[in-house]
Amino acid sequence: MLNLTYNYKLQPSKKQIEIIDHNLAVCKSVWNHALYQRKLWYNSRKCDINKCSLISEYVVEPYFYPNYHTQSAELTQAKKTNPYLKSGNAQAMQQTLRKLDRAFNDMKSKGMGFPRYKKKMKSFNLLSNKFEINGNYLKMPLLKNIKLRKSRDIPDGFLIKQVQIIKKASGYYANLMIELDVDIPLPTPHAHAVGIDAGIKSMLSTSDGNVIQRPKFLDKALRKIELLQRKLKKKRLGSNKWNKLQKRIALLHEAVANRRKDYHFKLARKLCSGVGMIFVEDINFTNWSKGMFCKQSLDMGLGQFFEILEYVCSITDTFFAKVNKDFTSQICPECGTNTGKKELNVRIHSCSECGYQQDRDVAAARVICNRGLDAAAVGAPVVKRTSAVLDSRLQALEMNSRDSGSAFPHSLFVQETAL
Ligand SMILES: [Zn+2]
Repeated sequence: MLNLTYNYKLQPSKKQIEIIDHNLAVCKSVWNHALYQRKLWYNSRKCDINKCSLISEYVVEPYFYPNYHTQSAELTQAKKTNPYLKSGNAQAMQQTLRKLDRAFNDMKSKGMGFPRYKKKMKSFNLLSNKFEINGNYLKMPLLKNIKLRKSRDIPDGFLIKQVQIIKKASGYYANLMIELDVDIPLPTPHAHAVGIDAGIKSMLSTSDGNVIQRPKFLDKALRKIELLQRKLKKKRLGSNKWNKLQKRIALLHEAVANRRKDYHFKLARKLCSGVGMIFVEDINFTNWSKGMFCKQSLDMGLGQFFEILEYVCSITDTFFAKVNKDFTSQICPECGTNTGKKELNVRIHSCSECGYQQDRDVAAARVICNRGLDAAAVGAPVVKRTSAVLDSRLQALEMNSRDSGSAFPHSLFVQETAL
C-alpha cells in the first residue's frame, strides 16, 4: 500500500465557509469535553486512596478510564438528545475523538506534552469512499462540490481515502490522503551509506563531510514577527487594530512555516539523491527543544525535518534507520577510542591514539554511519525502525504541495530490477 498526502488550496463559497466553520466549532466542543472527561479521571486519581482529599477525591465517575471506544459510544448517545451535536458531521466528530486518543498515546510513547484545551479548532477529517476530483472541483459528502486550486494532478490509480479540511490565516485548505493498492517492499540496506549528525552551530553534518549551515533566510521574517508582537501588547485586546495586527502576525507565521517546510523537503531530496542508506541519531527533539538549545532548534525545526526526511526516504527507496545516540561526539570514527567529553567551543575532533583529525560534527556523523552499517550488516534492529508510510503522525503532517520535484516516486517501481 502506498500512501501520499497532497495539499490543495480551497476556494469555498460563502455557504461552504459557514458549514466548515460550524463543523470546526462543533469539533472543538467535542475535543474539549472529551479532554475534560479524561483530565477529570486523571485528577481524581492523583490523591492516594488512604489520604485526606483536600485537593481531589479518589473515585468519581466515570469509574472506567474514558478511552476512545467509551467516548465514541457516549457521543452517539448524546447526539440523540443534543441538537448542537446533531448539527455537526458525525464523521468529523468521531475523527476528533480519535485524534485526541492519538494525542494521549503519543504522550506516553513519544514523550509529547499533555493534550490541551483548544481555543480554536484548526482542522477536521472526513473518511469516505465517495471523494472524487472533477475538473477544478472536489466532490465530497459534507460540502458537495467544493472548488479547489488544482496545483497538481493526482497520479493515475490512486484513490482518495481521507480528506482533512484545514483553516489557516490565509484561507481554507484540503489535505487529500491518497492510496494506491500495490505491494511495496520496504527499502533494504544497499548502496552508499550516509550518517547525519544534528548540531547547534551548523544544522546538519554528513559523514561525507558536507556541513549544512542553519538557514538564515527566516531570520528577517522572525525578527519582524517579534517586532509586531511587541506592538500587539500595546493595543487593547479585541480592538480593531488588535485584530488587524493579530491577522498580520498569523499570516507571517504561516509564511515562515511554509518556507521552512519547503526548505526541509528540498534538503531531504538533496540528501537522498544518490544515496542508498541514511542513518540518524535517535534524538527526541521535543525534549531537545525544551533545553538550552530551545531557540535555535525551534528555528530550524529539526524534529519536523527528520520526519520529512524519513518520509522522503520511504518514497525514494532509501533505507532509513535511527541509531543509538550515546557518545557519538566522543568516539573516534577511525579507531573507536573514546576521546572524552568535548566542550561546545571545541570544533575539531583530534584523536590521541591514531592522530585522526576532523570537524567534530563530521566525525560524529561518521560514527553514526559506522553504527548504522554495523547494525544493518548483521540484520539487527537499528534501535527503532518505524515504517514511515504507516506512521499516523506523518499522515497528519501536511505535506507541502510545492514539493512537486518528481512528484511521483518512480523509483519504487523499478526497485526489483535495480536490486
Ligand atoms: Zn582514533
